[in-house]
Amino acid sequence: MKNLEIVFATNNSHKLEEVNQISKEYNITFLPVPESFDPVEDGETFEENSYIKASEAAKLSGKFALADDSGLCVEALNGAPGIHSARYAETQDLRIQKLLKELLPHENKSAKFVCCMTLVSPEGVILKQIVGECKGAIIETRKGSNGFGYDPVFIPSGYNVTLAELSDVQKNKISHRGNALRKMLEYLSNSNF
Ligand code: IMP
Repeated sequence: MKNLEIVFATNNSHKLEEVNQISKEYNITFLPVPESFDPVEDGETFEENSYIKASEAAKLSGKFALADDSGLCVEALNGAPGIHSARYAETQDLRIQKLLKELLPHENKSAKFVCCMTLVSPEGVILKQIVGECKGAIIETRKGSNGFGYDPVFIPSGYNVTLAELSDVQKNKISHRGNALRKMLEYLSNSNF
């Protein structure tokens, strides 16, 4: 890979920071998307939505683009909120409240975060699609103040703290986005664009 310029298709500055934190080790820095980036995420899967975001970013910037689409899939809720994680309720506080209320009658608290990353060429052609996961369980009381989204109620498998109690570096090592991104960075490092 030779000084490839890749935009990361998100308006979420927290995500761009997270991704650049991980990609530092590979000497790859992702650029922000143009301000007019406002894709219509009307796909039915993480794969479709990440492609929609990546192709929109490539079209606007004229550069290679990488996008992620992610969400929380809860086993007892048949995979909900899934691709609707960001819009499950009006605010993040209400989204967590709704999740905890719906999960209350269920004994099975298993859940996983899923992330699909899609890399497209400046013409919008898919070059690589990778899915990463982070398995764990939902707890009834919020803990921790790091991270974002559903982090305060998600305990990753093998841990007894929530994702919101881990540092950014610790979270990146085990997160769905970290897992997908590291595979994507390996792919980019070994490719000949
Ligand atoms: P996206 O930005 O369209 O991929 O939407 C992802 C949504 O899923 C976010 O708004 C969060 O609600 C949730 N989500 C995705 N990744 C994480 C994470 O690492 N921690 C907590 N919540 C997450």
